[in-house]
Amino acid sequence: MPPSASAPRSRREPEAGSDVGSLTTKAERVDGGFVLNGQKVFISNAHIADHVLVVCRTTKTENKHEGLTMLWVPREVEGMEIVPIETMGGRETNTLYFTDCVAPESAVLGEVDQGWTQLMAGLNVERLILAATMLGIAQRAFDDALAYAKERKQFGRPIGSFQALQHRFADLATDLEAARLMTRWVATLVDEDPDRMLPKEASMVKLFVTEVAKRTTLEGMQMMGGYGYSAEYDMERLVRTSLVSTIYGGTSEIQRTIIGKTLGL
Ligand SMILES: Cc1cc2nc3c(=O)[nH]c(=O)nc-3n(C[C@H](O)[C@H](O)[C@H](O)COP(=O)(O)OP(=O)(O)OC[C@H]3O[C@@H](n4cnc5c(N)ncnc54)[C@H](O)[C@@H]3O)c2cc1C
Repeated sequence: MPPSASAPRSRREPEAGSDVGSLTTKAERVDGGFVLNGQKVFISNAHIADHVLVVCRTTKTENKHEGLTMLWVPREVEGMEIVPIETMGGRETNTLYFTDCVAPESAVLGEVDQGWTQLMAGLNVERLILAATMLGIAQRAFDDALAYAKERKQFGRPIGSFQALQHRFADLATDLEAARLMTRWVATLVDEDPDRMLPKEASMVKLFVTEVAKRTTLEGMQMMGGYGYSAEYDMERLVRTSLVSTIYGGTSEIQRTIIGKTLGL
């Protein structure tokens, strides 16, 4: 059951998860601005942000990707309620409820009704940043596990001297280098032309690096045994951070679907 399903509110966006274009939060034009009504689920750090970026439906059209607008709404605005969602990572994300929430005309980011194009244009950078962040998490997990494997002794020798662990470290080290090269490659493409849409490359880097990060942290935990699972070491935190990375910013399944489409499938 999605976290929002248990919330005692009547306006929800239950369908607008992976299918972003089906979002229903409305912003109706009034004199000098917009009135927002609806709900957003999983809005990271809204509780500590100065503003939240809300994509809403400003014009009703047949095509669900048209008639959307980005509004830059101050956190303290009247009519917006921010309710925490408990997750494995603690207090990191929220549900937002809009009830006759008034945003001025100046809150429009970009152009009215051009929200979908603007959203798509930001995906290169969003997916690249997620990948780069997870590359750092994976590297840290690898370094911690390697240091531990060199130090921890069982059966009279360091556990890193067992071939079972050596081969896993070798595979992870290889994955990490591939992830680093891929991140650099896509970053270079974005730097060369920040306006160019890179659906295939941006999805590939997000998919590959977040999956490598998840594998690395889980393997790191396994190779550290009970200490990897205990809160005494950072590994369990790195596992929790990496697990969600294949979900947010578009799930791994959705990245594969996008890549498939770019291949003409
Ligand atoms: C901690 C956290 C923070 C987040 N922060 C933000 C944020 O700040 N802003 C924001 O807008 N969103 C945010 N999200 C939302 C996130 O982007 C969505 O959770 C994600 O896109 C998946 O949507 P969903 O959870 O509704 O899952 P669903 O879309 O319901 O998907 C459920 C499962 O079905 C699969 N699936 C769905 N459609 C298909 C398909 N066509 N083909 C194959 N498989 C499919 C998915 O891959 C997934 O495995 C956050 C989520 C989390 C967990």
